Amino acid sequence: MKKRLTRKEWTRKKTINRVIRLSIVTLIGVAMLILLCLVFGTIYASMNPTKETVSATPKTKKPEIEVALLTPNEYSRPQTPLYEVNGVVVHYTANPGTTGWENQHYFENLKDSHTTKVSSHFIIGLDGTIIQCIPLDEIAYASNERNEDTISIECCHPKEDGKFTKETYQSLVTLTAWLTGEYNLTSDDVIRHYDVTGKICPKYFVENEEKWEKFKEDVFSKTQESNSIH
Ligand SMILES: [Zn+2]
Repeated sequence: MKKRLTRKEWTRKKTINRVIRLSIVTLIGVAMLILLCLVFGTIYASMNPTKETVSATPKTKKPEIEVALLTPNEYSRPQTPLYEVNGVVVHYTANPGTTGWENQHYFENLKDSHTTKVSSHFIIGLDGTIIQCIPLDEIAYASNERNEDTISIECCHPKEDGKFTKETYQSLVTLTAWLTGEYNLTSDDVIRHYDVTGKICPKYFVENEEKWEKFKEDVFSKTQESNSIH
């Protein structure tokens, strides 16, 4: 014969049953939630495959560079971080006949002379030597309001007219081609100091627009060349 439950026992039994039911419902709920996450996760992953980086310009070989970084100082190497590179700015030294190393020393000596604030990431000498003065993750004092997002190249020149030697020109093409590849830049991102401030710099490329266009063609035909090799 079934034992008749007291009211207290009956209440307790009811409570236990309710707890068990609630636990089962919760467990099913959690299991369904996990299942849903897995299903939607898989669908989302299949809809958004990992993007492959596509270079705007193919990478070219890094040219030979003499690294002679300036001593950190507020007049030529302030060590301000360069967070993004959106362009390459070409300059001329405006100091005919001076060599790449003389210009590097000039930048370096500003830490003592304090005469002005100026520098450049690279200097290309009359013989085509490429000297790096500033690391590529720091700004240089060369291109005014574009210091914060560009790499600068100063070029030496033998005469007042600012025309570069064949060696300087070749190194400028090689260096610019390498930089545009490294930073995925287009030909519009290769600019003159003149394009930033209107300053006649680099003189020869400002006064001879067609030579400037030819220079950019040479840079980007170099990147095409290297693309067809690899
Ligand atoms: Zn300039």
